[in-house]
Order: sequence, then C-alpha cells, then structure tokens
Amino acid sequence: MSLLALAAAAQPARPRLVVGIVVDQMRWDYLYTYGDTWSAGGGFNRLLADGFLCNNTMVDYVPTVTACGHASIYTGTTPAFHGIAGNSYHINGESVNSVWDPDVKPVGTDGKVGRQSPRNLWATTIGDQLKVATEGKAVVAGVSLKDRASILPAGHGADFATWYDGKGGKFISSSYYVDKLPQWLEEFNKRNKAALATNLWDEPSGVVMTTELALTAMRNLNMGKDNVTDLLAVSYSSTDACAHNYGIKSDSVNAIYARLDLELGRLFDALDREVGKGEYLVFLTADHGGTYNLKSMRALHLPWHMANTTRQCQAANAVLERQFSVANLIKYDKQYSIYLNHEAIVRADLDRDEVAWAACRALEQDSLTQWAVDLEHLDKAAIPSELKQRLALGYARERSGEIHLVHKPGVYTGADGHPGSSHGTYTQDDTHIPLVFMGWHVNAGETARLTHMTDIAATVCAMLHIQAPNACIGQPITELVK
Ligand SMILES: [Zn+2]
Repeated sequence: MSLLALAAAAQPARPRLVVGIVVDQMRWDYLYTYGDTWSAGGGFNRLLADGFLCNNTMVDYVPTVTACGHASIYTGTTPAFHGIAGNSYHINGESVNSVWDPDVKPVGTDGKVGRQSPRNLWATTIGDQLKVATEGKAVVAGVSLKDRASILPAGHGADFATWYDGKGGKFISSSYYVDKLPQWLEEFNKRNKAALATNLWDEPSGVVMTTELALTAMRNLNMGKDNVTDLLAVSYSSTDACAHNYGIKSDSVNAIYARLDLELGRLFDALDREVGKGEYLVFLTADHGGTYNLKSMRALHLPWHMANTTRQCQAANAVLERQFSVANLIKYDKQYSIYLNHEAIVRADLDRDEVAWAACRALEQDSLTQWAVDLEHLDKAAIPSELKQRLALGYARERSGEIHLVHKPGVYTGADGHPGSSHGTYTQDDTHIPLVFMGWHVNAGETARLTHMTDIAATVCAMLHIQAPNACIGQPITELVK
C-alpha cells in the first residue's frame, strides 16, 4: 500500500512493533565488504535480500560522534536543534556528559553512571510522538551498553531505558524511569553474572548480551503484543570500542561483525515467532562511520595524517599571548570543538570577535588544518556553503565550542602509532552510514538517491501516520513503502 493509500484508511494500519537498531561506528561499506562473512541464517543476508537499502545515507552535521548520532536518528534533526552537542561538552566551565542529570538517582548501582536521563535533549523523539499519538499506551524502551545510546533513542516519554555498569558488571537504570530495577532485570543480571563480569565493551560477548537483553525487555514489557505500536530502541556499542582499539577490518572487528550477523539473525527469528512476520518494522543504521588507521592507509600510499588538537591549541595560545598579553585565551578543546576563555576576555577588556578571529588564524598556522571557523560568524567564513551548512547544523549554541577545527581530508585525531579507528569529521568515512528498512509495509529494493540520517524519524513517523518529532527536518523516504 502506498503512503497515500495508507492515509486514506480511517484507522491507519500500524505495525505492532518498531525495532530501531543502531550499530555503533558501522560503516556503510561493511554491508558489502563483509559479504563473505554473512552466514546463510544470519541477519545481514536477510536485510540485504528482504530489506530496502538506502545506499547513500549521510550524516549532515559535524561532529560525527555517538551521542549526536543517536539523538539525531530518533529526533530527525541535528545538534543545532536537539542540543546534544557531543558525547560531552562544556557548560559554564564544567564538562558535562550528554545524559548527565544530577537530579536523578542511580538505580541498581551507587555509581555516577546511574545519574543519567534524557533531560539534556531539547527535542522530542519517535517514541515521544508514539506516546502522544497513543495517549501514552505505546510501550517505549531503550537497551544498550552505552548510557547515551539507550537513553537518547528511548526519549523523554520512555517507559524504561537500561545500560551497562562495567564496574558493577550489571545492567542498571535511573530514577528517571524506575525506583528500583524491575524483577526481570535483576534476574537477567543474576542469570548472566559471569558474562557480565567480563569486559563487554569491545568483545563479541557485548553483542550477545545486548541481543539477549533486548529480547528479555521486549517480553517482560509486553511489547508487540497488541495493535498499539510499541518502540524498542537497541544499540550495539561493542562494535565501536572494538574498531577504536584494534582498527577497521582487524581480526577483532571481523569477529565482532560475524557475531553481530548471527545475533541479528536470532533477533529477527525471535521477532517472527513472538510478534509475527510482517507485523514489525525494523530499521538498521549507524550513529557515525569510522576511518582506517594511519599505517594501513599509508601502506596504500593514501595521504593520511594524525593531528593533535591539544598541542595545536597550545601553539595557538602562545601566538595569542604575544598578541594580547593574556595567557590561555583558548580554554578547552574537545576533539575539533574549541572553547574560548570568556572570563579572561572580559577581565582584560578584550573584544571577543577580535580574539576569535585571531584564534582562528593562529589555529590555521597548523599545516594539517584547512580552516578554523568562528561559528558565531559563520556568514563571514570563507568556506564552501556545503561545509557551512554542516557546521551550522552541528552547532548547539550554549553548549558547543564556538570555534570548529576542520582538518584537511585524511587527517584524524589520535596518536601516530595507534592501530585503531577514529571519527568525528565531515568526510565520507565518518558520515556515510548504512540504512536498511525491513518488515511491515517495506518493499525489498534499494536506492542510491541522497538520503539523510534525519530522514529516518520522518520515514518511520510517516509510515505510522503520526506527527514527526517536533524539531524534525528530515523527509520521508517514500519509495521504500509498499
Ligand atoms: Zn558511536
């Protein structure tokens, strides 16, 4: 049925369950380069055969990091609108985790890792809109090892979100959702005590535990059981740390994707049995991509370099000190995001714009840097409009650093000899993400048309005939709808 035909029905048909799957740091090309790895009964072959593949889906902002990606997928908008400026950012001189909330209590742990909620997110999510459309009847939950990858996708109105406390070796939550851990989660933690006590962060066992918990949550929260559409947001985190630690296409990354393939197959089989084939809608995507390490790219004679932004800021500060006679005019750097020292600027009665301009020029003295851009005066920056747009969409005023460093293509942050991957830039490596829809009312097929991370929420909401999230800027991908 087309979107138009669906709209014509008095009571719109809806799936029983929407399952959003994010694979942390999965590059788009893995779908194809790992073709030999995917097993017959695995999840990826099924996605490739039965799904609709959007082969040219891009992240439209920088910085391309985990918290921004998860928030953008589920809100259909970008950091400038939803406010999640990075995995952490500075507010009033303090470094703040994207899901940090001092007003909630940890549940299942005494640690800081339990003081988390979606309150820093300014926009509504797919799940929030489902709650509005169903007067709260839809069940919405998030499952991931990473706090931000569970909490931000689940949204403000979620019934539950759970994430992993590595120190305590268990899945936990916060008082934003519950006063104590539900019995089923206590039992899950007990049953899997030995596995949870090992390092799940970069191992295939992290993928297994995430699938196991997603299915346990679905069953115990009675999701996909009636005609009110529920939303289960699952994010696989171990794929990210594995690539960061060992490098793209290392034996470790190969092993974790082979395991993920089997786990996705198991997840789809369970959904077929317990929700019903064709009764659920799945999408699979990534929060960002990743780049190969210096050594492997240089072996192919590609122009690859590693930058050290902290050292770059120190050098720029020395230039600024000679010019303004004030030390440390650049206060912090968070990867590519640079914060000026406003107290020092006011104290010395300097002109903010003059300091920012001088700071950009000083930062540009570094040979690996293409541009340093004052985001408060993007209109005056002599940079391509394509990049201007991405910087504007990624700039959450109040939270982001006001200067953004854009290095030359092939330049990444990290130590020279490090074997692992990196991400965060505007380049194809970091911005080209997989996007596959499968299941309820989805045509098998593919498109190479340019689509965007922000189109995901717009598409899901259009298919469900519910209002898109309030700050959504994406467009529905109509050709995938049966
Ligand atoms: Zn990530």
